[in-house]
Amino acid sequence: MKRTVVEIVLLLGLVAAAAFGWINLQKGNLASGNVVALETKAKATEAMLNDSRTEAEVAEEALDLLSDEMEPLRAKAFELDAVKEALANGPLLQDLESLYKQQKGLSIERQLGLGALRLLAKGGDDPGVAEAFQKALQMADWNGRKKTICAAQIGLAAAGENIKVLSECAIQPNGVPVASAHGGTAAAGHVAAADDHGHGQVGKQVVSAHAGPHWGYEGAMGPERWGSEFPTCGKGRSQAPLNIKGPFVKGRINVNADYKAGPLRILNNGHTVQVNVPAGSKLRLDGVPYELLQFHFHRPSEEQIDGKPMAMVIHFVHKSADGKLAVLGVLLKEGNENPGIKTLWSHAPTVEGPEVALDDVVFNPANLLPKEFEFFSYEGSLTTPPCTEGVRFFILKAPVNVSREQVNGFPFKRNARPVQPLNDRVITSG
Ligand SMILES: [Zn+2]
Repeated sequence: MKRTVVEIVLLLGLVAAAAFGWINLQKGNLASGNVVALETKAKATEAMLNDSRTEAEVAEEALDLLSDEMEPLRAKAFELDAVKEALANGPLLQDLESLYKQQKGLSIERQLGLGALRLLAKGGDDPGVAEAFQKALQMADWNGRKKTICAAQIGLAAAGENIKVLSECAIQPNGVPVASAHGGTAAAGHVAAADDHGHGQVGKQVVSAHAGPHWGYEGAMGPERWGSEFPTCGKGRSQAPLNIKGPFVKGRINVNADYKAGPLRILNNGHTVQVNVPAGSKLRLDGVPYELLQFHFHRPSEEQIDGKPMAMVIHFVHKSADGKLAVLGVLLKEGNENPGIKTLWSHAPTVEGPEVALDDVVFNPANLLPKEFEFFSYEGSLTTPPCTEGVRFFILKAPVNVSREQVNGFPFKRNARPVQPLNDRVITSG
């Protein structure tokens, strides 16, 4: 029960985060509406719990319910002083803090909510505030969920951090972030907000610029320099990619991909071509489901086998319910044309921009997988800044074909991080 209420509070915090920019400009009339809404939800949830369903199911329903009520809640987010009153020195924030300690892998929405609530209760000087927003910002970048970047940036600015908030994140007096000027130009489809893959989204907004410092694959912000802006990239001990070579340890984990067809959503984020996958496709690790969020490409393959890269690699990025990341790597070997990639390349934007949603193009990520499912596995990291560790990699041994023309049709000539030291890790083979 406590856990469910905490989830709801964190969700409310996201609304708060989105509203901060405006609140800083103008203090609205304060009332206790938000707290009342919260209490009502908590009571409704308690009633549902008595209905003998599992807590997880109830939490899902409660969050769905709240998502529907996001719009009216947005207005109530201006009454935040009442929430602050309820949180200050109260058990609610302590619950949040302890949940945070247990679960390092909170979702982006929860991170944002946590940052917002800490900011409310403790003020911008508390280091935990910036920490939570920074973490959300990093996760947003990796997941291509750029709309959350606005909330995190506004939160950081509100906490007094020296951060440049994207112009797209400017807040209108009604609290709705302004959509980017990039919208409305796509002829082949409509420009849509990035998929959120979960509950707790705050409205629909299109954000197209990068957050945080610029980085790239060559020159002054090339991989050797990432560590200066993103410490984990330089100091991490479990970084990816790896040169995969023996001796190997026998792997025992059972991996199973259950991908489903869905409408194509594709974007060029300035670093790669990425396909955002609608909910429902899963990777199962010993039966534990990891939702497929997106997949993207590197040229050449970031992973090497016995010191040699392949023409390209596809990284399928998955996340479990408790926030753990798992990447399935499919190596692409130069050979025959790949029909799946043919479809993707015909719709992939050649220049950086927002996601393009093509409702009439149905794509199944399973078409990009080889038949054989033997793999190498190791603990690694994001291979792009901020290089966050704790990512499990599964690199399939069987490559799939890609034609030379298709490799040359990929809009990035080189977007592969060099291989990283193995240190004290083991690579399993199974
Ligand atoms: Zn990748």
